[in-house]
Amino acid sequence: MKVATDEELLLFILNSTPVIDGLPQDLLLDASRARSMLGTFGGTGTVQELELVRAARPLLQGVASGELTADSLAPLLVGVYQVPRLTTTRLDWSLTVPSNHESAVRAVLAWTRLRDSAPGRLRPCANDECRLFLVDRSRANTARWCSMATCGNRLKARRHYNKKRTQP
Ligand SMILES: [Zn+2]
Repeated sequence: MKVATDEELLLFILNSTPVIDGLPQDLLLDASRARSMLGTFGGTGTVQELELVRAARPLLQGVASGELTADSLAPLLVGVYQVPRLTTTRLDWSLTVPSNHESAVRAVLAWTRLRDSAPGRLRPCANDECRLFLVDRSRANTARWCSMATCGNRLKARRHYNKKRTQP
């Protein structure tokens, strides 16, 4: 089985409040389903983990949409530290995270890595009725929609319709 990356976990959390058929949904609402989802992303699937992820979500969505500054995430990293491990040949660093905080911390660290390695590439979908986020990997960096099949085509159709309507 493929192990989910921290970035996939981050996007799952960011995109866990989609709007489906005009209705806002919360994919973390049903606790047993949410816990098993977190398990598939490498989480522990505990109740406490889910609570911490739920608490982290609005902060992650806030920084990803630019409504909050990055230091808003700082409280999520309390108690996280790096431990040096010296072997005969090398020095390794490993991360120590309070138990049940692993998923929230992985998501925060994935966000900081994305910001540093791909600045501006994580952004909200340009459809303001959509609450999803996308990571634009295209060379031109011009992706605007979470999905061309849904939001892209819908907005294009609407723009086309409006254009036709305003023509004399
Ligand atoms: Zn969208």
